[in-house]
Amino acid sequence: MKIDIVTIFPEFFDTFLKTSIIKRAIEDGLVEIELHQLRDYSHNKHKKIDDTPYGGGAGMLMAFPPFYDVIHQLKRENTKVIMLSPQGKLFNQKTATELSLSKHLILLCGHYEGIDARVEELIDLEISIGDYILTGGEIPAMIISDAVIRLIPEVIHQDSAEQDSLQNGWLKYPQYTKPEEYKGFKVPEVLVSGNHQLIDQWRTKQQIKKTLNKRPDLVNQIEKTEKEVQLLKEFNKNKK
Ligand code: SAM
Repeated sequence: MKIDIVTIFPEFFDTFLKTSIIKRAIEDGLVEIELHQLRDYSHNKHKKIDDTPYGGGAGMLMAFPPFYDVIHQLKRENTKVIMLSPQGKLFNQKTATELSLSKHLILLCGHYEGIDARVEELIDLEISIGDYILTGGEIPAMIISDAVIRLIPEVIHQDSAEQDSLQNGWLKYPQYTKPEEYKGFKVPEVLVSGNHQLIDQWRTKQQIKKTLNKRPDLVNQIEKTEKEVQLLKEFNKNKK
């Protein structure tokens, strides 16, 4: 996969690209990330890329021509052009999974008051990472890249990614590691029983219980197995 990131602050990405799993994915050739300085596409001799909004109003807006030029330079047949914006579709694991199947993404990072609205006519997707306003699209671009890259086969163990919270809809069951007991805090007995059937049953129940307690809003959206439907009914009955 290739990810092109268009930004006026490429230095934001220095640590991101040189650390941990993302660094390894790049070194192993599983993903290529290229940063593009939007100012290089400025039509102004001072490399200015922003101007005041027509009709008046506070702040500066990023101009249309540099975005038009960079998109036309980078776009290929299978490209998905994504604009980061607080007005976009809320990013979630389902979108990350869909994007991980793409060959080429272009991520457009806004700044200041945002981007001239004509850019919306050139994009495939407008994504928000949450209902709050950030100063720029660089952190959202890192979030989206990180979530997408770890789903590319071989970047991490696929069974690990498949069992993550939200991947199948449910939150993941609680996990513990050594020591078995510390200052009276114990690991649930079933996990040290060695009985894998019992452990699997416990984990399925726990992920349903956890999702019901922490994120009940997710439950209706999940495609459930028959067993999960039955367990859900039991939990709901016991609550009454
Ligand atoms: N004036 C814009 C509005 O009211 O919709 C907000 C502009 S914001 C201060 C500047 C840039 O940060 C946006 O163009 C976008 O690229 C990025 N941004 C801010 N919040 C975001 C969010 N929640 N999700 C994705 N991008 C965001």
